[in-house]
Amino acid sequence: MPIAKARANFDNSFARLPARFYQLLAPTPVAAPAPIRVNRGLALELGLDPDWLASAEGTAFLAGNSVVEGSEPLAAAYAGHQFGSFNPQLGDGRAILLGELRGTDGRRMDLQLKGAGRTHWSRGGDGRSPLGPVLREYIVSEAMAALGVPSTRALAAVSTGEPVYRERSLPGAVLARVASSHIRIGSFEFFAARKDKEALEILVRFTLERHYPSLADADNPALALLESAVRAQASLVSRWQLLGFIHGVMNTDNMLLSGETIDYGPCAFMDAFNPDTVFSSIDHGGRYAYRNQPGIAHWNLACLAQALVPLLHEDSERAVALAQAAVDTYSDQFLEAHTAGLKAKLGLQQDRPEDAALIEDLYTLMASGVTDFTLTFRRLADLASPDTAGDQDCSELYLLPPAFDPWLARWQERLAIEAVDPGARQATMYRANPIFIPRNHLVEAAITAATDQEDFAPFHALVDRLADPWTWRPEDRAFALPPGPEQRVHQTFCGT
Ligand code: AMP
Ligand code: MG
Repeated sequence: MPIAKARANFDNSFARLPARFYQLLAPTPVAAPAPIRVNRGLALELGLDPDWLASAEGTAFLAGNSVVEGSEPLAAAYAGHQFGSFNPQLGDGRAILLGELRGTDGRRMDLQLKGAGRTHWSRGGDGRSPLGPVLREYIVSEAMAALGVPSTRALAAVSTGEPVYRERSLPGAVLARVASSHIRIGSFEFFAARKDKEALEILVRFTLERHYPSLADADNPALALLESAVRAQASLVSRWQLLGFIHGVMNTDNMLLSGETIDYGPCAFMDAFNPDTVFSSIDHGGRYAYRNQPGIAHWNLACLAQALVPLLHEDSERAVALAQAAVDTYSDQFLEAHTAGLKAKLGLQQDRPEDAALIEDLYTLMASGVTDFTLTFRRLADLASPDTAGDQDCSELYLLPPAFDPWLARWQERLAIEAVDPGARQATMYRANPIFIPRNHLVEAAITAATDQEDFAPFHALVDRLADPWTWRPEDRAFALPPGPEQRVHQTFCGT
């Protein structure tokens, strides 16, 4: 395999862990790599030259056809609970970690190629990814980052020039994914299942140093890590709920200790509000429905706690009590984060006893009127101060049904109690209530055009538009509108 010139500043701490954490192996080269998109802003943040990434040499690197100096490619071991059942052996079956880059801000970031060929953990899989899931992850993960939600990022997408066989032959692609690490709840479960206490201790130390360095010297490092993970997940899932984001496959191997969103397989944003919404074609019981997400994160954290029990205390009863106490703080933390976010969406600063009912009644109205989740909140920002809305007013796009009027009157009365400048409040509300989300019908249309017609224009237009989800521009109407009845997407499919 050719070694390209050093263009990246790698420093691979994970590759320095013991050999049982991974399999060292290079990506499998592809027939004819071609660039699809390079995320220039992210490249610069990582100290990479975007022009080099877009060049033939950079494309070969991003496709896994050449390994650059300093990269130590590997596939990581992990386990996980999938739809509630434990699988002791998952691991990177189609993703290869090229190494860790130091960003311009000094932060260490993983660079991983998804769809880079078979590994020790591929089982029956081909180690590849069709173009569709690569584009979906690119669009949605970058939209999440723009929306301020912690997320893995998309550095680039390249096509492979090779077909991938699913129900039909599809074009293949590779996504270059960036994450602050790929340590999952399932990474701990892998070693816990093997009763490998030494590896667990190493992984706890590694994760604390990477993500919670101020806690690296904690008296009880495993407990400090568990508490940090609880906090991070409570905050993350509250953000998903506030945006109507449905992850779709909240297995413990898809929950990162960093608190970033990962795995954009069957994910989707809700259009019309319905808390029972499920998109994933394989989620038959609705386990990962919108309304269940907070509870599932709690369940997943209990799996992490279980894996860490051997490290929490030498007395096993004491250890279990510590684990339980840490996990028990989740519900309050979620509620606190979610309530704070909702109040920001509604333009409220103070805490008042009537707020809980006000919020609940809004959700009941949204559900009974099947109003669009995103645009309902956005309209509230307009209505908070119609005189100052100016060019951000989107009434030509969306109006709330008359059934909302009594609730709106109550909310206006509640707003009036707080002596704040209406224009300033409205500006804050516009920042809490995006107008553009990656609508499913647009994501599907972008994927279909690219897959069936080799037309990438809709994909690029969508990525460009979603880079600023807050600012309404009338010419971007088509990006903001909910789907018509015939455009509605009812199911999404995992990238496998
Ligand atoms: P995911 O659904 O992406 O969370 O993946 C679950 C597990 O299946 C992980 O161990 C993946 O590496 C593995 N996997 C998914 N798709 C493939 C594939 N096409 N080839 C090999 N392994 C795969
Ligand atoms: Mg996954």
